[in-house]
Amino acid sequence: MQRIYFDHAATTPVDPEVIKAMEPYFYEKFGNASSPYAFGREASRALEDSRQILANFIGAKPEEIIFNSGATEANNHAIFGVAQAQQHKGGHLIVSSIEHHSVLEPVSFLERQGYEVTYVPVDDKGMVDPQDVQNAITDKTILIVLIHASNEVGTIQPVAQIGQIAKKRNITFLVDACQTTGHIPVNVDTLGADLLSLSSHKFYGPKGVGALYIRQGTKVSPFLLGGDQERNRRASTQNVAGAVGLAKAIELCQKGMEEESRVQMALRDKLMEEIPKRISGVRINGHLKQRLPNNTHFSFEGVEGEALLMSLDMANVAASMGSACTSGAMEASHVLRAMGLSDELAFGSLRITMGRWSSEKQVEYFLERLPSIVSGLRI
Ligand code: PMP
Repeated sequence: MQRIYFDHAATTPVDPEVIKAMEPYFYEKFGNASSPYAFGREASRALEDSRQILANFIGAKPEEIIFNSGATEANNHAIFGVAQAQQHKGGHLIVSSIEHHSVLEPVSFLERQGYEVTYVPVDDKGMVDPQDVQNAITDKTILIVLIHASNEVGTIQPVAQIGQIAKKRNITFLVDACQTTGHIPVNVDTLGADLLSLSSHKFYGPKGVGALYIRQGTKVSPFLLGGDQERNRRASTQNVAGAVGLAKAIELCQKGMEEESRVQMALRDKLMEEIPKRISGVRINGHLKQRLPNNTHFSFEGVEGEALLMSLDMANVAASMGSACTSGAMEASHVLRAMGLSDELAFGSLRITMGRWSSEKQVEYFLERLPSIVSGLRI
């Protein structure tokens, strides 16, 4: 029996076409993109072509893209960079209460340094109300941060509305598009984003490479110092093969997005329909319609989530309780808590996220196995 991977929100396998595109940049085209001779020029060309592909995809200009190590770095860069560059305007930040830890921890670090932070609540579907963001704004607000779609429950946020609010008040707006890029349309103008973070490994590209979009004119300090790469905003020799892989992955997503969404939504909806029919005491978490095409998230009464994951692992199914980053730590998910779930339901949660190679057959197998696993754990 082949193992089934149902945790695509944690990471995705690299598409073989991506590997093929990257390969030359490890061997004959290995040059440093800053070197003046032919090896360097070749690497630099590949890097700039990749930048153009990503820029086109999100509706940006190539000079607004900074390649980096991924969304954690992008969020850290954006938050610390704005805090430093716009300190003179004020020291107030607004973030939703369901952000990823790569947003919450830098923000809480700033709080300890004396910045003021407003955590905007969510409703029981994990949705932010734009009015709450509007009400939280003060004369000192320098940054609003919002996750495009929750990495845990998949709820897609009213980002464009909040982008308009930020624009009207001339406040920098950071969108964490780590879970949405490559899966649903991401356009910086439609979203009203001044800053946007993403990671290639969430859309069938390699790990350890991603990007921060910085709208021209946005005041953000550089993050890494020690070189003039990325227009002096992120020092360090560029990961050319990684950027080429990211760009190839983007091209593949662009080509297949509609069809992939359709297939994954059908699998998602089947799980959301069948699981409550086959198992009692189940709650579906997240918004039923405004949600990522590949995300399902459940809470099972009287079930310990960690034990459920172990049992699924023994049945050759890889899934998650919520976010890979918090599993292992015995603390209820801050996202589920913010949605008003009891600790019992938060600990009894299960996230299933589909991917490019998920199949009806895998879903059928999972649906057959899950009821007995859950009832076994309830005894
Ligand atoms: N933001 C969100 C919404 C995420 O889901 C993740 C990854 N789980 C990150 C940021 C961080 O991405 P990375 O680990 O690739 O740096």
